[in-house]
Amino acid sequence: MFVRFWNTKIATFYEVLLDPFAFVVRSMKEDVANLIAPLMLRPITRWPFFAFLGGAMFCLLASSTCHLLSCHSERLTYIMLRLDYAGIAALISTSFYPPVYYSFMCNPFFCNLYLGFITLLGVATILVSLLPVFQNPEFRTIRASLFLGMGLSGVAPILHKLILFWHQPEAHHTTGYEVLMGVFYGIGALIYATRIPERWMPGKFDIAGHSHQLFHVLVVAGAYTHYQAGLVYLKWRDLEGCRGN
Ligand SMILES: [Zn+2]
Repeated sequence: MFVRFWNTKIATFYEVLLDPFAFVVRSMKEDVANLIAPLMLRPITRWPFFAFLGGAMFCLLASSTCHLLSCHSERLTYIMLRLDYAGIAALISTSFYPPVYYSFMCNPFFCNLYLGFITLLGVATILVSLLPVFQNPEFRTIRASLFLGMGLSGVAPILHKLILFWHQPEAHHTTGYEVLMGVFYGIGALIYATRIPERWMPGKFDIAGHSHQLFHVLVVAGAYTHYQAGLVYLKWRDLEGCRGN
C-alpha cells in the first residue's frame, strides 16, 4: 500500500516534468468530473451523516460549556457535569447512524432494528447521565459500563456488514476505522472508570493530564476516525447505490 502510494507520487512527478500542459489539462478534467459526478449520480441521502455531525457538535458544545462554567459554583458544576456525559452519550449513539444506515439502507428491516436499538440505548444513557440519582460515586462503574455497552453494541452491525459485503473493499476499509474508533472509546471509558493517572500520583495532575481530560481527547480522536469512515460510506453508496446487495 505504502510502496504503491510512493510509486504513484514519483510517477506524477515525472509526468509533470515531461509534459506539464497535459498534466494540468488532465487534473482540470478530474476536477470537473468530481464536480459533475455527484449531480449525475444522484447522491445518497446525507441525513445519517448530518445526525452524526450534529451529535458531535452537541457533545463538544456541551463539554466546552461544562468546563467553562463549572468553576462558577458547586451547584453549577453538578448540573454541568451531567450535561457533559449526556453530550458524550449523544455523540456515541449518533455515531451509529452513518455506518448502520449506509450498510443496511437496502435492507430496511435490519436498518430500522439497529437504528431503533441504538436510539433507545442512547436515550437511556442520556437519562442516566442527567438523573441526579445516578451521580453518586457508587454509580461510577454503572455509568462507565453503560457507555462501554453502547460502544460494544456496535459489534453486531459491523460483523453483519462484513458478512454481507465481504467482497466489497469499502466494508474492510470502514471496519478498520471502526475498530480504531472502538479502541479510542474503549481506552477512554477504561481511563474514566479507573481514574488513571491521578490515582497513582494524587495532586500531580490537577491542572493537566488527569483522566477526565484524557477521556475527552480520546472521544475527539474516536469521533474524527468515525468521520473518516463516514466519508468512505458516502463515496461507496454515492457511486454504487444498492448495486451488489
Ligand atoms: Zn468533561
